[in-house]
Amino acid sequence: MPSEAPFRSLPARVIVAGGGIAALELVVALRKLAGERVAIELLAPGEHFVYRPLLVAEPFGMGELPRFPLGQVLGDQRAVQRRGRLAEVRADAHEVVTAAGERLAYDALVVATGARTVEAVRGALTFGGPESVTLMRTLVEGAATGELRSIAFALAASAASWPLPLYELALMTALRAGGAQITVATAEDAPLQLFGQAVSRSMTERLARAGVELLAGVAPVEYADGALALEDGRRLTADAAVALPALAGPAIPGLPHDSGGFVPVDGHGRVEDVADVYAAGDVTAFEVKQGGVSVRQAQAVAECIAARAGTSLVPEPFEPLLRGMLLTGAEPSYLQWRGGESQQADSPLWWPPTKIADSYIVPYLVSRFQLSVPTAPGPGEADLMSSAPAGGDVPVRPGRGDG
Ligand SMILES: Cc1cc2nc3c(=O)[nH]c(=O)nc-3n(C[C@H](O)[C@H](O)[C@H](O)COP(=O)(O)OP(=O)(O)OC[C@H]3O[C@@H](n4cnc5c(N)ncnc54)[C@H](O)[C@@H]3O)c2cc1C
Repeated sequence: MPSEAPFRSLPARVIVAGGGIAALELVVALRKLAGERVAIELLAPGEHFVYRPLLVAEPFGMGELPRFPLGQVLGDQRAVQRRGRLAEVRADAHEVVTAAGERLAYDALVVATGARTVEAVRGALTFGGPESVTLMRTLVEGAATGELRSIAFALAASAASWPLPLYELALMTALRAGGAQITVATAEDAPLQLFGQAVSRSMTERLARAGVELLAGVAPVEYADGALALEDGRRLTADAAVALPALAGPAIPGLPHDSGGFVPVDGHGRVEDVADVYAAGDVTAFEVKQGGVSVRQAQAVAECIAARAGTSLVPEPFEPLLRGMLLTGAEPSYLQWRGGESQQADSPLWWPPTKIADSYIVPYLVSRFQLSVPTAPGPGEADLMSSAPAGGDVPVRPGRGDG
């Protein structure tokens, strides 16, 4: 990478905007890599960090969505929170403006404010946040009692940046559904196409074994009058329809963005043509919007900042490796796409076998807050405590050389 100038002040003042997985991975990684060479301030509106990848488990009674107090997480990392929202970046002045009008100076700014969810299939239940859990639970119960005879799970092309949750919802519903017909209608040419052919093949077989009908290569458009309308004119009769949301970028004033509002970055997370500003996670223009990708991007940014703060680290670009842990209602399945190679396995392809692999933040959450992964309803959660690094002693560069 072209060398970037060392920071003029030490500790360097780093502002992280956002309170999701990308922001917190950045905080934990940066503290680990740069030590006291950086002063970290997190600008975020909420009091909690919500671990969204486990949202799909909640409607099925497989545990509650994990939430962690930001104050404790940041306290452990010797970082502070400023409650508020990023409203504008004034890159020439090296300052951000918050929604409340405060101006905060930085040596490095990391934007990790995520994306907005928007309805992708009109009329369907959009499953994108905690607010959709109760409705989804009602649908699952309706299918289990026979009140609903058919449910369609719909993936529009605009929602395909991370399709895994749709398949998790469909498979787990099928397991509970009794006689109800479960159908997946997807704009993808094959299920989980972004993981490559081997995963698509095994996913097709898994859906068939679970009795889930698959319609691939046809975009769902709208759910109305008891039918899911497909773009080729067909109408699929269904008592209910569930869809994943599309994502919209925030188009932050002062930063470049693409037509979707997402921030363009290079492999190190540096925002195009804006010095000292980095971005990671769903806010970036990278086409896959996933927790695992978010943490890899955050790690690449942390390495750049640590190097500029005077460590001997040589920053590496983030590896666009995809790892997905598919919750099925029984044992999970492990999916991976790495260097063009597509892989599916019923035993872990990485360790510890968490939804978000190779991160600094997840082993910390496991050892500090006993985060665990639900595998089946009721008792039987996979306790990952025993596999967590002791005392938060996280290995440097967790994403390298594993798998
Ligand atoms: C149902 C569902 C299931 C998923 N399952 C998986 C999975 O199994 N595995 C996986 O890897 N990924 C999964 N994902 C994707 C994953 O959740 C996202 O890719 C990930 O959360 C992105 O992290 P982020 O930190 O970039 O953004 P977010 O998680 O969206 O966090 C953004 C944060 O920024 C804050 N914020 C917003 N605007 C501002 C502002 N202006 N100023 C300051 N702060 C702001 C928000 O309050 C929030 O705290 C799933 C997503 C969904 C919706």
